[in-house]
Amino acid sequence: MTQKLSLPFSGAQGAISEKTLAMHHDKLYAGYVDKKDEVQSKIDVLAKTGDVSTANQSYSELRALKDGETFAVNGVYLHEWYFENLGGDGQPTGTVAEALTTKYGSLDDFLKYFAACGMAARGWVVLAWDTHDKDLKIYISDAHNQGGVWGAIPLLVMDVYEHAYFMDFGSDRKAYIQDFLDHITWSKVEERFLNIN
Ligand code: FE
Repeated sequence: MTQKLSLPFSGAQGAISEKTLAMHHDKLYAGYVDKKDEVQSKIDVLAKTGDVSTANQSYSELRALKDGETFAVNGVYLHEWYFENLGGDGQPTGTVAEALTTKYGSLDDFLKYFAACGMAARGWVVLAWDTHDKDLKIYISDAHNQGGVWGAIPLLVMDVYEHAYFMDFGSDRKAYIQDFLDHITWSKVEERFLNIN
């Protein structure tokens, strides 16, 4: 069974209301955890005792389960990284702040680019350490299991699906992104960065 992450804070975060967070964490995120467990236990049974001879790329039980698996697993991981880097003071600090300054010219330039990626994405924006290129990269994703790059380790994750902000910001995604940036928990981003370097 996958352990559900408790929110690392209580109450509203910036302009993101308790109501939004309750819906986002207790309903949507919790739903991905349950589906992850359900689909992975079905895969275990099929792999061990089932008939996989009908596996097929157009449609088969195995294909449906494997497709659902990456959607649910990434839905869990991405939301946990998002909740964990939400609700801080927004003050970049440590070696990751230095590395971002070196890479993007200044922290303001990094934040401007990250925010723009949030307007370009349909689902997720991920600042990652790309272990192939050994460099900081921002990748965007339109669905949990689309757009991710293997070997890229997430450092800062932003959810830009409408459910993350619509109750508090309406259709004003730009305002949500600015509020998110103003409340990043940079100590968590630094912790992730130190773990890989
Ligand atoms: Fe979400």
